[in-house]
Amino acid sequence: MANGIRIGIAGAGLGGVAAAGLLERAGFDVVLYDQAPGFSRLGAGIQFGPNVLKILAQLDGLDKELEAISCLPDYWVSRKWDDGTIMAKIPLNAERSRYGAPYITIHRGDLHQRMLERISPERVRWGHKLIDFSDNGREVALTFENGALEIVDILIGADGINSCVREKLFGMDEAVYTGWIAHRAIISGQAAKALGADVNAKWWSDDRHIVCYYLDREESEFYLVTGEPAEWTSRAGQLPSSREALREAFKGFHPLVQGYIDATDVVTKWPLKTRQPLPVWHQGRTVLLGDACHPMKPHMAQGAAMAVEDAAVLALSLAKLGVSDLNHTFGAYYTARKERATKVQSISNANTWLKQPEDPYWCYGDNVYDLSFG
Ligand code: FAD
Repeated sequence: MANGIRIGIAGAGLGGVAAAGLLERAGFDVVLYDQAPGFSRLGAGIQFGPNVLKILAQLDGLDKELEAISCLPDYWVSRKWDDGTIMAKIPLNAERSRYGAPYITIHRGDLHQRMLERISPERVRWGHKLIDFSDNGREVALTFENGALEIVDILIGADGINSCVREKLFGMDEAVYTGWIAHRAIISGQAAKALGADVNAKWWSDDRHIVCYYLDREESEFYLVTGEPAEWTSRAGQLPSSREALREAFKGFHPLVQGYIDATDVVTKWPLKTRQPLPVWHQGRTVLLGDACHPMKPHMAQGAAMAVEDAAVLALSLAKLGVSDLNHTFGAYYTARKERATKVQSISNANTWLKQPEDPYWCYGDNVYDLSFG
């Protein structure tokens, strides 16, 4: 059924790459376009739960490869900002068999690179910024800033929070600044170890937090990512910041946190933006996934996870329901995803996840392959 169906994906972020890998394996003729000139190793970490690892297993055992290089925390630890009291200690890999897959923390660049390696290289086109598209009911014509023109049968908008695909479908609508930023920095694992770092912890005060974890199996890199109220007036997606700014923002936090901050060198800051849930994710031959349709504050560490889950469910819908009635196929995808993505978006924005003891099974134990499409 998939033979010869051309699918263009705008955006080679984690959601777009997952979609490309899964659709290629389902037999679709996929091409992935990204505006960036090429792959770059963004200086940041990421957590991926068992719900995502079960999907990555479909990409020729990528789950096993990632498990071999990632840090595998046994527990999620929430600590009180000043004295380090443990507020919650929740099993992650300590209950791996219950969740059905591991929980990993990893360098985002290492993860992205390994996901890209699961797609045939000729299917990835860097330096292709989509600027327009038109759907004549039979196919979609794509126009790129570099002058390239391509024709596809289906367009997937995986182009992130400022999605031009979403804008063209549903109109211009600026993402909303939440009033919070995230600082990001990586310090050496050796420095973290010398301080007596937890493998993985989130330090919470009433109005801010700092999350800290190792990025690799050897524990050679240790990542700090914060959430804190701040002004943001720039249109940039990130700006350089400093150790001093981090010190100021986390004044009075536990000496271990101060030690981490003292060990930082390159520090960046990112505005945290969101949008209201969209009532529909598709129109005609075009469909959205990931941050393009449900961006969120990152406090549940599930934004990219939801993008990968979307990719898996969209690939399943296309493979099982076919392309002759795309309104039906995309509608089934939306129906299968909407409630879960919106729930995660709302908990993530509220920043309450795992602050107190709770069972995260509904999130980490989920397996998209249990879905049935009639
Ligand atoms: P993106 O990753 O934004 O990718 C979009 C891609 O589209 C980019 O490559 C971009 O270059 C490309 N693009 C944009 N416009 C165009 C165009 N016009 N033409 C062609 N290409 C285009 N999530 C987790 O699951 N776990 C975590 O631990 C986690 N931590 C986070 C920490 C922070 C501080 C932040 C800010 C986010 C975090 N997230 C985390 C959320 C996660 O980063 C996002 O939800 C995720 O990256 C969304 O993936 P995506 O593929 O939908 O979009």
